[in-house]
Amino acid sequence: VPDGVAALEGSGIVKHFGGVHALDGVDVRIMPGTVHGIIGPNGSGKSTLVSCLTRYHQIDAGQVRIFGEEAPHAAHRVAHAGVTRVFQVPHLFERVSVLDNVLTGMRTRETYSWFGALVRSPSYRRQDRTEREEARELLAFAGLASRADWLASSLSHGQKRLLEVVRAVASRPKVLILDEPATGLTSDELDALGRLCRVLRERGLAVVLIEHNVDFVMGLCDELTVLESGKVIERGTPEKVRNSAAVLEAYLGR
Ligand code: ADP
Ligand code: MG
Repeated sequence: VPDGVAALEGSGIVKHFGGVHALDGVDVRIMPGTVHGIIGPNGSGKSTLVSCLTRYHQIDAGQVRIFGEEAPHAAHRVAHAGVTRVFQVPHLFERVSVLDNVLTGMRTRETYSWFGALVRSPSYRRQDRTEREEARELLAFAGLASRADWLASSLSHGQKRLLEVVRAVASRPKVLILDEPATGLTSDELDALGRLCRVLRERGLAVVLIEHNVDFVMGLCDELTVLESGKVIERGTPEKVRNSAAVLEAYLGR
């Protein structure tokens, strides 16, 4: 386990749905500047864990910390604290350009000045230009540079999912959580997603990947947390997880 303050940390997380013990005392530490995979069989509690960490669900026991501080209890305040979750279904502005979709992501930043936008002051125009450059750069990482001026509705399913990720990145989160982002992506799109995640890691973000595609996760992640039936059965490097008897059992023993 690396030293230093975790970007996002859950300790002893318990979550029941009626009689279902979805999470049964889960510890997870996600460090800044890493890609952290959360894997496990279907129904093992991965999405529930993320919902608990982002306060989308209230937990029955345990603690959530963001950079060492207790996480706020309202989901929108967790988002303000820099923890952003990208859902599986894209919520894009379909009748607007790809570039403008990214710019709307930037405009959820608190520093954005509606007054500046209204009066179109020189400083606003400068900011606008910088934002456009930044947006195009992010689109390039995601392999969408040549689509910047297209309508979002013209993108393929996989490209829309990538755009959703870029839009989330544009809001400058400190922790970006992706729930099964690789589903339905072509191999080129998968490469682009991997490239984007590596760029974010270099920029110091914590990227959390919940993923079914084990090869993709193993190739990309610095660390993994493996869940089975609401418990952590293994954690550590891809190398360690790959050679874990408990993990093999969980995946093959069913
Ligand atoms: P995963 O994402 O690993 O596939 P989930 O976190 O979605 O697993 O689910 C973990 C367990 O909790 C499953 O048994 C699931 O049926 C149950 N569960 C998840 N969400 C709810 C809910 N809102 N109400 C009742 N049971 C739920
Ligand atoms: Mg899930």
